[in-house]
Amino acid sequence: MFCPSCGFAVEENMQYCSNCGNIMRTSTSSLIGFSDKINDPAFFKYKKDSSNWSAIFSGILAVIAIIAFPIYGKSTGELDWPESLYYGIGIGSMFIVIAMLQILKRSFEKTWDGVVIYKDSYKRRVYGNHFNNAYTVYILKVRKDNGGIKKHKWQDIPGPFHYYRVNDRVRHHKGFYYYEKYDKSHDTEIMCAACNSFNDIKQDLCKRCKCPLLK
Ligand SMILES: [Zn+2]
Ligand SMILES: [Zn+2]
Repeated sequence: MFCPSCGFAVEENMQYCSNCGNIMRTSTSSLIGFSDKINDPAFFKYKKDSSNWSAIFSGILAVIAIIAFPIYGKSTGELDWPESLYYGIGIGSMFIVIAMLQILKRSFEKTWDGVVIYKDSYKRRVYGNHFNNAYTVYILKVRKDNGGIKKHKWQDIPGPFHYYRVNDRVRHHKGFYYYEKYDKSHDTEIMCAACNSFNDIKQDLCKRCKCPLLK
């Protein structure tokens, strides 16, 4: 590590800079390094709850499909009974399968480290009939240490766009749509790994979901 006062290369775990005598802060208070708080039970609970919610939500959609198809078939005369019921069951089970695949995918995901290599935003015009509209496109690319590039593209809301800088070392934690920054020492805000809302860097818990902030 380097002395924040004089820049001298100080050995790890030294309490004072051997060049200028400056007190070296420990890695937990200097906001440098990946946090082990991701192992906090609050995150397990958050992941479990969100999986449960997507299972419940897909179940509700399935029930709606099973009820709605026969009603639609009967009222329009376009679908006969019991074919309309089979359609409903088919579409309904599709909702459930999609939700299950998403939950499975998240549980098989791995944690990986990488570097932000590219970041760009641009305005895109939409030509309508009477008025011109514009929206902003955001692109963020992260190169994984073990190969491959993860590209993120979204629009309208900047969200985490301004949070990351090119050359930032980041860690993707499995099951979360989030990158933890290795170096948070220049930040005034910190993003919550679970709900992605921004918090003051001085806080320890996310004000929205109460998960620990990774620092
Ligand atoms: Zn020093
Ligand atoms: Zn949160």
